[in-house]
Formats: sequence, C-alpha cells, structure tokens
Amino acid sequence: MSDVVEAGIINCDACPVLCRIREGRSGACDRYANTGGTLTRVDPLVVVQAIKEKDGKLIPFLSTDREWDGAVVSNSPTFITGIGASTTYPDYKPAPFIVAAEHDGVDMVTVVTEGIFSYCGVKVKIDTDRFLGPEQSTVRAGGEAVGHVTTSEYGSQMLSIGGVHHLTGGSKKEGKLTCDTMLALCNKQAVELTIDNGATVVVQAGQAPIVNGTVEERMRVGCGSATIGMFAKQWFGLVEEVVVVDDHITGLLSEHKAGRYLGIEDSGAVIRGRRSTLGRYFQVAEPGTGWGGTNITDPLSILDPFNPKVAKPGHRLLMVSTTGEHAGYYVLDQDLKPVEAEMPAAVAATVERIRENCEAALCSVVFIAGAGGSLRAGVTENPVKLTRSVKDSLTLVTSGGAPVYVWPGGGITYMVDVLRMPDHSFGAVPTPALVAPIEFTMRLDDYRALGGHMDAVVRLEQVINQDRRKSVQWDPDNPWPMLKRNYKWGDDT
Ligand code: SF4
Repeated sequence: MSDVVEAGIINCDACPVLCRIREGRSGACDRYANTGGTLTRVDPLVVVQAIKEKDGKLIPFLSTDREWDGAVVSNSPTFITGIGASTTYPDYKPAPFIVAAEHDGVDMVTVVTEGIFSYCGVKVKIDTDRFLGPEQSTVRAGGEAVGHVTTSEYGSQMLSIGGVHHLTGGSKKEGKLTCDTMLALCNKQAVELTIDNGATVVVQAGQAPIVNGTVEERMRVGCGSATIGMFAKQWFGLVEEVVVVDDHITGLLSEHKAGRYLGIEDSGAVIRGRRSTLGRYFQVAEPGTGWGGTNITDPLSILDPFNPKVAKPGHRLLMVSTTGEHAGYYVLDQDLKPVEAEMPAAVAATVERIRENCEAALCSVVFIAGAGGSLRAGVTENPVKLTRSVKDSLTLVTSGGAPVYVWPGGGITYMVDVLRMPDHSFGAVPTPALVAPIEFTMRLDDYRALGGHMDAVVRLEQVINQDRRKSVQWDPDNPWPMLKRNYKWGDDT
C-alpha cells in the first residue's frame, strides 16, 4: 500500500520547500497540486486583453453593469502576464513562458514568470495628518515586527513593511507574519498594523486609512505656511490674524511673507514654538492626533499673551488646521485675551475652502523587489545582459502587465503600484517569500542578441489556447506593454 502511495507522490521543485504532493492534494502554498499524477499550477494563467466593442470602444475596465466571463476574446490585443504562469526557481531552465507575437509589424517576445522574492518589501503611504508613531518605530502585525516607520512626507506617513531581514532574520513566526502581511497588502486586502509608541492603523490599498478606529477623510492641503500662502488673500479684511496649526510648520499670517505682501499689520500674536523664518514656526506642540497632527486640543495653548503694544481689543483671530477639520474664531477682549465667538459665515467659507482643497486620504501600497541573477537566468544564459537591456530601454519590465519603476544603479530593482495590477496577482511560499508576476518584453531580435533561450520560444496562439488561462480587461490607465514608444527604438512613434 505504501508503495502505491509513494508511487502517487510528486515532488514539487518550484520553490526550496520541495513539497511531496500526494495525488489529489496540493502543496504547502496551495499553488501547485498533484492532478492525476501531474504537477499542476492550480491558478489560471492570466492574460490581459484590450477588449474592444464592435464600435471600437474599450469595454470599461471592471465594468459593473456588464459581467465578463474572463474568456479569451480572439483578435483582441493580448499580453501574457506572469500571474499563474508558474516559476522555474531556481532558474536553471528557461522561464515557463517565452511568448513571441507580432505587434504593429514588429516581432516581439515576452518572457513570463512568477518570481519568488525573499528580497522584497512593501512601501505604504498613508495620507494622514495624525501621528502614527516616531520615525524608526517598529510596525507590528499580530504582535510580530514586520517593518518600521520611515519618513513623514507631505501629508503622508510612510511605512516600510517586509524586507529580507524581517522575512529571514527573525523568528519563524516573524517571517511568516511578515510574508502574510505583505501578501495581504499586495492583494489589496485590509491589514491592521500597530506601531510601537504610536497608533493602530488599518491599511488597505486605495482605501482611506483608519487611525485608532477613526476613518481619515482628508489629506492636508499643505503645511501651515503653505496654507497661509494659498489662502491669505481670502482672509484679508475678514480677520486681523490667522494661525494655521500644524505639527511641522505652523503659520502666522501677519508675519508671513504672504501677509506682508498684502500689507497686513502685526497683530501682536506670539506663537510658542521655534521660529524658523518669518511666519513659520517649528515644534509648537508634540505630534499627536489633535489639531493639525499635534497633541493639542486647545489651540490657544500654543499662543503666548498678545503683545499689548500692538494688539487691540476687538481684533479677530482665526485658528485653523491644515485640513480645515479643526477651526476656531476668537475676538480679543479688553484684556487682550482671545475669547471664542461664533464664526462669521465669510470666515467659515474660507475654512470650507481649505477642506475642499484637501484631497481624499488614501493608503497606497507599492511592492518593491529585486529581480535577482537567478530569475534573470530564466530569461538569458548571460543574465547581466538582461540588466543592461532593461537599462538601455530595449527591454520593458512589467508586473502583471502594469508599468513598473526600475531603480537606477545595479540589478533590476523595481517598484509597482499594486492598484494597477489585476486582483490576486500575488502569492506566497512558506520559505517564506512572496510570489509576484514579472514580464520582460522586447524585440525578438534583441532577445536573440542578449543570449535568450530561443529554443523555448513559443507563439502566442499556442499559449492562449491552453485550458488553464483567464482573460482580464486591460486597465486603460496602464500603457500597453507592446507600444513602440516604450522602447528606445520606438522613441519617435
Ligand atoms: S510550497 Fe513550494 S514546493 Fe510546495 S507546492 Fe508550493 S511551490 Fe511547490
């Protein structure tokens, strides 16, 4: 009996786990199965098609009013992606699909594979003014360290998730949770992350971040100084002073260049903070989830007493945050103390204008990986030539058909916005590593010249006619990978 079972076992060599898979079962990653004694990639091979209606218009991408069964539509421009292509890791043999097709009179070839990436990470941009945690703080998922807080950019907090150290350098659980977190983020699913000495944030590509249970609505319009510059004219005549409260740069209208330009006089307001340049103050408060990304709930707490030589009773003061989410209107009393008053409609309209100018707060997820020597060997016998061909703009790199940014410097390190990729583009193996589609497209002649595996080239028709494939509609926001203008030789077309 055991002999029979042994005889029905297949060894999967698609990753270093080397699963032994019994008939009818799948391996540890659920990507490969033993189907009737044959090792089979379970998911369909995804092809991207620019489907056209009879009148030549594109069927809208992800149209909700018209379901599409994912069948291949003949005669529509077709591009084979790496999604579901399987892999040849480590690449001692040619990539799974090396597909030739004529496009616009040029013989092109696309080398298609599913890369297995231990050397990869995810950069997350979270549009929020709220304080998520100190720079370099550990980011956790399920209690395990999966990344860190990196720089804070304009209106956004950046997180770095994954990377080889979390995947391989910690405990087994850390590696697994890091891989799970990256996989979910890249497949556009929601993930809850906690930041040491900071916030808990729910992140999902293309969705608003949820910080400590509150859905973030707006991205700031700019720092406090920029906000003054943008709206100074609209405040002119309505108030004597405006303070734009901000964690990084708090602005003071009367002292700011924009206020001076308009001839606004000194109001006697004194900001408690470190003055950088005229009308621009740093460190007015600690970072937090209050006004303008600070920890304050009472904006007056950042003001020292008004200068009695300048300030006058009855002077009007607007305090506002960089998203317009917080705002207060005050009038100086006889003792030159600001007293909150009902905000006049004209002033409220300026606050509304700030809100209107804030873009929707979103989470963006960008996958970054290095296509290493092994993966490149699946493309050519002389892997460095592929790198050179990419740098020379003779070979286009795409991921699931989506455009990528290739970093300068050595190797083929690329980044891709996961929202531009088809759904469920990513997989994982328990080594742990992420599996991501990657395609290299070039002229057939260029492929021959870089030492490509010419014996393994097949025609497109042979591939799209196989059973295990599924079409997805091309996202018209993505450039079609075969367009001549993507390549150095088609520069002027
Ligand atoms: S985990 Fe690796 S060896 Fe096992 S089935 Fe998946 S790809 Fe194959």
